[in-house]
Amino acid sequence: MTARTPAAIASAASAASALLLVGALTLTAACSHAPSASKPAPARGGPSAEAAEAAAGAAAAAAAGVEPSVVDPATIEGLDVVNDSGNSRFCPWATSYPDVPGATALTAAMRRDVGEHLAEFLGPDSRSPVDCGGDTRSGDPDTQDTRELNISFALLVASGDVVGVRLSNRDRTARTYWYDGADLTYRPALALIESGSRAAFVSALREKARRQGGVGPAALDDLAFTADGGLRAGSAVALDRATVTPWLSEFGRRAQAQTTDPSPTLDLGADHTPTPAVPAGADPGADPTDCSRVKCVALTFDDGPAVPESTTLLQYLAEYDARATFFVVGQNAAAHRAVVRAQADAGHEIGNHSWSHPRLTELSTEEIRSQLARTSEEIRSATGTEPTLFRPPYGSIDDRVRAAAQPLSAVMWDVDPRDWEDRDTDRVTQRVIAATDPGDVILLHDIHRTSVAAVPQILSTLTAGGYHFVTVSHLRATPNALG
Ligand code: ZN
Repeated sequence: MTARTPAAIASAASAASALLLVGALTLTAACSHAPSASKPAPARGGPSAEAAEAAAGAAAAAAAGVEPSVVDPATIEGLDVVNDSGNSRFCPWATSYPDVPGATALTAAMRRDVGEHLAEFLGPDSRSPVDCGGDTRSGDPDTQDTRELNISFALLVASGDVVGVRLSNRDRTARTYWYDGADLTYRPALALIESGSRAAFVSALREKARRQGGVGPAALDDLAFTADGGLRAGSAVALDRATVTPWLSEFGRRAQAQTTDPSPTLDLGADHTPTPAVPAGADPGADPTDCSRVKCVALTFDDGPAVPESTTLLQYLAEYDARATFFVVGQNAAAHRAVVRAQADAGHEIGNHSWSHPRLTELSTEEIRSQLARTSEEIRSATGTEPTLFRPPYGSIDDRVRAAAQPLSAVMWDVDPRDWEDRDTDRVTQRVIAATDPGDVILLHDIHRTSVAAVPQILSTLTAGGYHFVTVSHLRATPNALG
């Protein structure tokens, strides 16, 4: 086999991708992830034959089960999830990717791509008004079509010597990343296909897309195996196992085998970092604090859980007998179920912060429900208790989101030290202490080491000032004479 540099493969992929895009029909609105607002109105006199064919193709694609096979992240020992989020001048962004122990080159490839996406999104100068990836803005947040960066992940394969990850941006575009433990090498998606077979593969995908009525362009950097060993390109076009197998590279065949018949363990030759022990405190029982007689505040921590930050935080809270509320992101809760369970066992409240941290106001009602329901189910399975509270990412909420979220009740905040922006422990500490009044809800993020480090001083100073730390539900349930 001719040696190819990653750059050569990437350029072949992008050229072939463009080719495929041109080859596909333009009826991409039939793609399952297209925003509903962009659906074209039916032509006068009823849908055209092409539109009907496209609709039939979309239905067939959905029925064909072209969902990629996915792996439960909780099964990977020592898995870390690298999270970041912010809201820089009306440009909300949240990024998340897995750091699988031993797959260093894979993590590096994702870190590089996510970093490039974020830099492009925020623009070249962090001090000047950011442009959110080129959007022009008038300065009035209410009238802007705010852009958003939201990168979330799914683990496709994590067994034997193969890891596959799919990173999606707002569930609209995606790319898959592969790790070959036999060569300790990151491999892009097209490396699943033998180089001499790529032309035949691309042409078969074009033909399949054409027969499906052009159901979205098939992306060659978004290749993932289905549970039965077929290979899917993009969200809607898949080739069955018998068709694709002769074109697979040696690595592609191993990745296919680990999808359909995974080895019981992941063995990348890495020293497994032992997962930090999650403190198992005794059940503290009901909180007797009477907020009508003493000053109460609610500490809330968003975006986690993260390891080791969230477990360190549990120790600080226990030292001050403080209760808090954790608004967890579903995909992080799924990776760190033991941490969520320990939070609940220690008497803290678990709230819902969506599955992948999108602006809920930008989603369809069905997508909002899915983001929240999936996360509530994750919380229920970790703790045995259904959450009753949710916090919309970025505080972005309207009547439609409130209605779709029921019976979850929205929780905003009173004190925001903007800890995600400065990452400065002293500054965060001082801002919280200076701004807190009785009855307040304080917003922090337990994915940031610097924020967790601020908590002991916040607890100590406010405790000395007569404050008690209770959950949001406790604060809401108690008539708060001092609030
Ligand atoms: Zn958040």
